[in-house]
Amino acid sequence: MASTKIQDKQTSAKRVAVVGAGVSGLAAAYKLRSHGLNVSVFEAEGRAGGKLRSVSREGLIWDEGANTMFQVILEPFLWKKSDASKVSDAYNQESVGRFFQRHFGQEVVDYLIDPFVAGTSAGDPQSLSMRHSFPEIWDLEQRFGSIIVGALKSKLSAKRENSGETKSSVKKNALRGSFSFQGGMQTLTDMLCKDLSKDELKLKSKILSLSYSHGEKSTLENWSLSHASDRDKRSQGSSFDAVIMTAPLCNVKEMKIMKGGKPFPLNFIPEVSYMPVSVIITTFKKENVKRPLEGFGVLVPSNEQQNGLKTLGTLFSSIMFPDRAPDNLYLYTTFVGGRRNKELAKASTDELKQIVTSDLRQLMGVEGEPTFLNHFYWSKAFPLYGRNYASVVEAIEKMERDLPGFFYAGNHKAGLSVGKAIASGCKAADLVISYLESSHQKDGSPS
Ligand code: FAD
Repeated sequence: MASTKIQDKQTSAKRVAVVGAGVSGLAAAYKLRSHGLNVSVFEAEGRAGGKLRSVSREGLIWDEGANTMFQVILEPFLWKKSDASKVSDAYNQESVGRFFQRHFGQEVVDYLIDPFVAGTSAGDPQSLSMRHSFPEIWDLEQRFGSIIVGALKSKLSAKRENSGETKSSVKKNALRGSFSFQGGMQTLTDMLCKDLSKDELKLKSKILSLSYSHGEKSTLENWSLSHASDRDKRSQGSSFDAVIMTAPLCNVKEMKIMKGGKPFPLNFIPEVSYMPVSVIITTFKKENVKRPLEGFGVLVPSNEQQNGLKTLGTLFSSIMFPDRAPDNLYLYTTFVGGRRNKELAKASTDELKQIVTSDLRQLMGVEGEPTFLNHFYWSKAFPLYGRNYASVVEAIEKMERDLPGFFYAGNHKAGLSVGKAIASGCKAADLVISYLESSHQKDGSPS
């Protein structure tokens, strides 16, 4: 306790810039602030939340970005024996499709893995890297040779470590799965911004350039950032001791970075592919839905395109979360596009209305037109964790290595889900705290 107070005192005057007010940046800012640091969050848009975007209108609530805090719902597949595989470059780059085909056969890939990855990352099993998309499962095979044996062994050892905590483990397991927040996922980021003042959360402040200069006496206060502000003026802010970057890499590549007065070119960052997705919200009167299905929703395997189904999947939002629509309506959230059908993601609202209504008619027997429709288009919904993604991760690591006090977090680094983005933001905050403490000691400043 006493040592935490001392640490708080030592670092209290330190300033950290966080670029991006998505969930990873806000989680990082929250953690840094709780540690007593001064934080400035720069956000390009006029709102915080990034890919968490909830709307409340006409008695309905919907999410245009993330809908749930999803966990990897592939756990049931872990319980099957499979051969070990040798570590090699080819294995490191193995696709998700090839990995699951090797373990469970093509049918599982076509009817379970394909719709799952389309619905959770808008990708497809053949182009996604197993190692980067499902690192936990990939790691089980690495460590234990078989993912089933690995799952069993790691569960058993976790149990042994936690012996006496059976109740809380059960509770934890019960909490796994999907959940959201009253009012939608944006409630989470709204809560994280609640205590940030206007000076701490700078909206409409797109970062244009960052400059690191080596101080003669101190390793700190070496970063300065410039951002676009109202009326497109460039504005130079105060200096910072460290930076957490959470903007997507495509945006980072547009920034100008200087180190010691010289340009720090970012041409070593490979191009990242992004999946476009349209999110279509519809409501139907309950009496007009002939086969209302229970559960979270439906994911459409790509094979089903030959039967005329064109959507990636539909979440039964008002069944999952009853606050989303009045009792007499079903509210559905349908995804179109992804790697499977990039062009369709860009279709007009009218065209998408026809496509979604037709798919829902086939799947659930909806009759007539939706009573409400909303369309939101994400041109870069998800970064594709392709088979060369290791080079993207290496580029992120190079930036962090070559730029003192620069840390990267967010969904381009360690996983696509909201949970992984939060974990990545918190980890970056921890690294900043250690960095500031060790720099402080090096500088020999009085404590
Ligand atoms: P972002 O939310 O992208 O935040 C980055 C922020 O940086 C943005 O606000 C951006 O405006 C800002 N920025 C960019 N450039 C600059 C700049 N130059 N200066 C300042 N700011 C800048 N995950 C789940 O767990 N469950 C789901 O159900 C789910 N569904 C999804 C559905 C859709 C349609 C989408 C698009 C995503 C979904 N995800 C889901 C993924 C999840 O939402 C994201 O991975 C996560 O929210 C990413 O958070 P982030 O902070 O890393 O990035």
